[in-house]
Amino acid sequence: MRYPDDADRYATILKDPRSFVVSPNLADYEAARSAFSWEQARAALSGLPGGDGLNIAYEAVDRHARGPRANRVALRWIGKAGERRDYTYGELAISTNRFANALQSVGVKAGDSVFILLGRVPELYVGMLGALKLKCVVSPLFSAFGPEPIATRMEIGDARVLVTTEALYRRKVEALRERLPKLECVILIDAEEDSERTRSWRKLMQAAQEIFNIAPTDPRETALLHFTSGTTGRPKGVIHVHEAVVTHYATGRYALDLHDGDRFWCTADPGWVTGTSYGVIAPLTHGVTNIVVEAEFDAPSWYGVLAQERVTVWYTAPTAIRMMMKLGADAVKDYDLSALRFAASVGEPLNAEAVVWGVEAFGLPFHDNWWQTETGGIMIANFASMDIKPGSMGRPLPGVEAEILRRKANGGIETLGAGEEGELALKSGWPSMMRGYLHEEARYRKCFVGEWYLTGDLARYDSDGYFWFVGRADDVIKSSGHLIGPFEVESALMEHPAVAEAAVIGKPDPIAGEIVKAFVALKLGFEADELMRKDLLGHARKRLGAAVAPKEIEFRGNLPKTRSGKIMRRLLKARELGLPEGDLSTLESDER
Ligand code: AMP
Repeated sequence: MRYPDDADRYATILKDPRSFVVSPNLADYEAARSAFSWEQARAALSGLPGGDGLNIAYEAVDRHARGPRANRVALRWIGKAGERRDYTYGELAISTNRFANALQSVGVKAGDSVFILLGRVPELYVGMLGALKLKCVVSPLFSAFGPEPIATRMEIGDARVLVTTEALYRRKVEALRERLPKLECVILIDAEEDSERTRSWRKLMQAAQEIFNIAPTDPRETALLHFTSGTTGRPKGVIHVHEAVVTHYATGRYALDLHDGDRFWCTADPGWVTGTSYGVIAPLTHGVTNIVVEAEFDAPSWYGVLAQERVTVWYTAPTAIRMMMKLGADAVKDYDLSALRFAASVGEPLNAEAVVWGVEAFGLPFHDNWWQTETGGIMIANFASMDIKPGSMGRPLPGVEAEILRRKANGGIETLGAGEEGELALKSGWPSMMRGYLHEEARYRKCFVGEWYLTGDLARYDSDGYFWFVGRADDVIKSSGHLIGPFEVESALMEHPAVAEAAVIGKPDPIAGEIVKAFVALKLGFEADELMRKDLLGHARKRLGAAVAPKEIEFRGNLPKTRSGKIMRRLLKARELGLPEGDLSTLESDER
């Protein structure tokens, strides 16, 4: 299949080197690619003293705390009520040392899993980096998850420690604690005292020493566990190692164009991979000031943050950009955004209109980039120096080889050329590549054909080497940038006593990209009425949390199934969108 270049619809945004406020780190794409090696990228980091390996927390915090950046603000935290707290690199080194010691004092060891269920509060950053110093496996969870996704992830991840708040613990974890026999230590950041089953963060930190020496760290040791979803089965625990920091640093340099003295703001929550790789690690490894905003999206407050904090580099997401577009470019005019030099976006397709709107509203285009939980860092990007074709994800990073492949019936692959649509694949070998799905070797191996990692995304590239996103090869849903597995939602619906069958699809939405829509067939004797719909929506929200639960429910007498009994989500989606129904040869029973 061949496509005309979408660039025909929107003029290419040409970059004029004379307009650069600072010269981009990547000035010449081809030259940077041919000069690049991961060994050299690794050499830009310092490594643990004495050649004792590579530890993310050391690169992010201690090496700056020991040098001229010790008094620079590492984190500027802006609380929900507008309060502000600064943490210098020196202070962050001490508080993360304390937390590493605190964990050790309660018997936590290297290799133990530390889950963090918090909003964007300072303890999240101190907890994550402190646990990495002790070489624990850190897993940040999205605090808007409901009890079910939290318990499932903690079960899969063998959670030994949980850091959270009193309210989140009582509301979301306590009742399910029986499912988590390995969970020995729950640390509550706002509890004054210890209780029978919980510890007080404040007391542990008060008793902890300020000095902590990071033990030798093999770069291949596991550092982070992020969860992602597939079409079927339970969520997948994606294993990342300390060496990933090499990618975080290099992509911070090339794709986000970080320079010394920048004030950087990544709007993603660390409960998702972007918020960890780029909301914590990448900016700190560059020694810049990282702005953390606790509150959720609100356009005027965001413009206020950009102006007041004189943000220079901003990394955000399509859903937020579309919400800003709705309010119009005029809403931006009252703010002094003269400090802003570079704006980037990730997580879902960024419409060409949104790229162009950036120029109208902020005087700069949004630079779309592509990556996923498994890749650990940015793989394809529009660079500061590069002309932008609105709607394109850009070009592969130096050190990253991307191709478009087609899987063949015999298990092999075929490489496709410019303009041909196929599966986006990356050649293995970059440092932040996932090292496995925890306890799921077979699922992990299925992602590879030889040296190629197949991403599950359909894409193509054009004759200039720019990549264009086409869609997902599977049924996972992207809603407001959050990847949602239909199976997890269907399972929660099936637990309702009235539900006989459930199928969940992503329904296109002009703002959120997709919303979660469920089709439900009820058991005999239950009435498919408004009351039932409300009850099911409430049930799903309570179990899954608002970010994951369906927004729409449609009742059906029966759902279309294959001969082997699988519900055909694709058919439901095609019918929802009024698209051709495709190959129906395996259809056994239909909804109609
Ligand atoms: P996650 O693992 O949650 O970060 O989701 C990764 C998926 O989000 C990718 O496989 C894509 O389907 C989608 N995605 C991420 N960035 C982009 C982008 N720039 N354009 C289109 N889709 C994207």
